[in-house]
Amino acid sequence: MKWLAKSNLRLLIVGLVLLSTLLAVINMFIASAKVQKQSLIDNTLQHNEGYATKLAQMLQITIENAQQELILSARSMAKSWSDAKQVQQDLLGLSEQSSLFNSMHVASSEGLVLAASNNISQLTGRKLLGLGHQQALTMRVAWVSEPFISQLDNLLVTLTAPIYTADGQFVGYLAGNVYLKHNNLLSRIIGEHYQKDGSYVYIIDRQKRLLYHPEKKRLGIPTYTNPMLDTVLKGIPGHQVVVNSVGVEMLAGYAYVPVAGWGLVSQRPTKAVLDAHEGLMQKIMLTSMPMNFAMLVVIWIFSGLISKPLKVLARNVKKMTLRSTIEKVENLNAWYYEAQQLKQAFLLGLENIHDKVDKLQHDADIDPLTGLNNRRLLEQVLDTFLITNTSFCAITFDIDHFKKVNDNYGHAAGDQVLRELSAIVLDSSRENDVCIRLGGEEFLILMTHCKLELAVRVAERLRAAVMEHSFTDVGSVTISLGVAAWPEHNKTPQEILRIADKRLYRAKNLGRNQVCCSDS
Ligand code: GH3
Ligand code: MG
Ligand code: MG
Repeated sequence: MKWLAKSNLRLLIVGLVLLSTLLAVINMFIASAKVQKQSLIDNTLQHNEGYATKLAQMLQITIENAQQELILSARSMAKSWSDAKQVQQDLLGLSEQSSLFNSMHVASSEGLVLAASNNISQLTGRKLLGLGHQQALTMRVAWVSEPFISQLDNLLVTLTAPIYTADGQFVGYLAGNVYLKHNNLLSRIIGEHYQKDGSYVYIIDRQKRLLYHPEKKRLGIPTYTNPMLDTVLKGIPGHQVVVNSVGVEMLAGYAYVPVAGWGLVSQRPTKAVLDAHEGLMQKIMLTSMPMNFAMLVVIWIFSGLISKPLKVLARNVKKMTLRSTIEKVENLNAWYYEAQQLKQAFLLGLENIHDKVDKLQHDADIDPLTGLNNRRLLEQVLDTFLITNTSFCAITFDIDHFKKVNDNYGHAAGDQVLRELSAIVLDSSRENDVCIRLGGEEFLILMTHCKLELAVRVAERLRAAVMEHSFTDVGSVTISLGVAAWPEHNKTPQEILRIADKRLYRAKNLGRNQVCCSDS
């Protein structure tokens, strides 16, 4: 995976955290949405069942009370039955008093209207033919009729109480009429329940005809399509998910009104519940947004802090050989364990490398046999003298007849001579003098801030010291020396060395074991 190797730690951390957070949030979101949705649906179903039960109870009580009122009034009318005027008066008083019915009337056992409330006074003296009125005449008990259309073209349900005289003779009935399409007893109890979200309440009678429904044009018409209604009319409250007559899925709760044999259904569209739920989830999302953003910022900052030490280490790996790298890495704030370990390992490695480099450098500048500097250093030293305008003297010297030493005593004895000679050189030179083995048995001493006379004295002392020394196995050895000083008119330091060399060979030609400091 090449792209992984190319992306930096910070992006990797941020990416990883983002991905895992996103997965966790999505997972939590889906799970909680599922649970909440189901619980909302269950709650709505239960709420609707409770509401339907409550309304059904209120209807039951109201109808029972109305029936009781009708029965009591019917009894009192029976007492004054022979007095038509009194019956009329009683009815008017009753209809004015009671707010339960849209109209009231008293009919004879033949169905003739004997007295009527003011709003239907035109019916007085007429024979009523409506289904409900016929039922009252045949049933002759307190009764709630099926919905029917009256002579005055009202869709109505009538509550009736029979009137029996003292000798037990059925003489007529007292009726309280409920006009289904008008503001009535049912609408007063149920209230304007119809809501914007499409939830509503409806009431059916035993034949599943609608007695109450927000769509008035459907009143009195049966709703056969809905299989739930059979369950509703069985009399046990409950709830169910159903599809209504226009194909909308509804969460319905239902209850039964035994006194009238009616079923009451309260329902709310599933979509309305889920819309509310969707809004809720959106709200949760929006509310969590600032926190998520803050989290992102924190992750960004922390990932930067985590990756920084590694970034610095990675950058400095490339500059491992620079001296300043050690200092930079030492100053690095490796604030957590792994970075700390890496830093320490890196520093150890760096120190190791620098030690090795130093050693190599040293080895490259030092002659292994004698421990003196070798020719590599020469150019550097001469350049420094030139740049810093440092005056110096050069003493070059060569062992006399060294070939013979090798020939007579062996190469090892020759080497020993070289070693002992170097010790004498170091011994007789000052701290700031640079002593170099130029190669073979040729040597050079550079003395800074020094006049030619002093250098000649040093050369002479060295020559004497070598001559007086007894070399191991070999005994006496002599050297010839050439001395020159810089600055000299128009000459470079390199040219001074050549002059010293020339003088050395002059010393050889003059008989060896001597110092030469002039060209003639
Ligand atoms: P001259 O007085 O003219 O300098 O005579 P010389 O014999 O010293 O002549 P030359 O300088 O030409 O000879 C140098 C000899 O030094 C040759 C070589 O065998 C010997 N030599 C060079 N380097 C070494 C070394 O590292 N060890 C030993 N043992 N001998 C060396
Ligand atoms: Mg030589
Ligand atoms: Mg020699």
